[in-house]
Amino acid sequence: MIRKLKALKILPLKHISPSQYYSALNCPYKLVLANTFKYESLLPINANAHFGSIAHKMIELISRGIVVNEESFSECWNDLINKKENELRQKGLGSITPLKYFVSDFALKKNQLRHFLERRKNKIAKHEQKTTNTYFPEVKLTNLDHSIYGIADLIIKNGSSVVILDFKTGKVHIESIDENGGSEKLIKKEYELQLKLYAYLYFLMHNVFPTSLFLITLDNNFIEVPFTQEDCENVYKEAVSFLSSTNSIIEKQEFELIAKPSKENCQYCSYRPACNYYSNWLTKNFEHVNDLGGLLKKVNCFNNNSLGLQMQIGNHEVLINGLTGSLKQGFENLIDKKITLYNLRKSKNAINATANIFTITYA
Ligand code: SF4
Repeated sequence: MIRKLKALKILPLKHISPSQYYSALNCPYKLVLANTFKYESLLPINANAHFGSIAHKMIELISRGIVVNEESFSECWNDLINKKENELRQKGLGSITPLKYFVSDFALKKNQLRHFLERRKNKIAKHEQKTTNTYFPEVKLTNLDHSIYGIADLIIKNGSSVVILDFKTGKVHIESIDENGGSEKLIKKEYELQLKLYAYLYFLMHNVFPTSLFLITLDNNFIEVPFTQEDCENVYKEAVSFLSSTNSIIEKQEFELIAKPSKENCQYCSYRPACNYYSNWLTKNFEHVNDLGGLLKKVNCFNNNSLGLQMQIGNHEVLINGLTGSLKQGFENLIDKKITLYNLRKSKNAINATANIFTITYA
């Protein structure tokens, strides 16, 4: 696929959500671009990421008591998988369907969800007589001017006790070295900030802080996120100030102050094609990521209806194979022009690359 980007009109940020905040701290320009493109990714998302939204929805449905047995599990599961696969086909990503062949550990993940349901059923049976919990799924939490706004997956109330929970399908911990040189598990900063912001937004709306904050993982672990009220207030104030300073930079168009290109920040950023700072960084660092940008010099056609491109990147001549023959004319029109190919397959630190179903070219 060869795409062109229209000229950009960068828009001010109206709000920031607790789940975006941490990633925006690492590169505020990513949030600026996401907002400008209305949060539509400019690059295809891999099958595992698409599956993540299905797993998240299943955890939510189980927690809300909508999925309660094998029958409702299968019904909701099939429905979500079918909808996602149809959506992918409509977006031209039919080549990563059926998802069961492209999502890593698909069967294992489905089983984890089944176990999640079983444990939930056991828990409910155990507490059936005693529990007076009330469940509130997908609760909107916001400040007065809606500048900080998000949706908590679940709030459980019981008398004066209020618990805010968020579902996570990936890892929630990072390994860290403690003061004695041993290793310790820490909750990822992004999740900590997200829940503390939820807590403060809840306080702003109800004049009372939640009793506790929890992350729920796929293996049904309830991981408590400790907090103090002061902590939450500080995180909130920093988020408000971040929003205001970013908008002032947008107004002055000083984007170089907030674009932070690096391998860690950019490799999964969906807005790389629109980011000039990344393009410049890429010319010197292309050996470390799966994108290549440079002058297209030659298009080679092979007998198996595939294409190979010769590109000039600085002093390097680079070869890219595995592109579909149907793009021949499109690439020939771009000879001697600058193009960038995203999501290539490369061996570690290699220069040459191979295209795959997720590869996209921007001219
Ligand atoms: S590509 Fe990198 S520098 Fe550009 S917006 Fe994304 S994370 Fe920031």
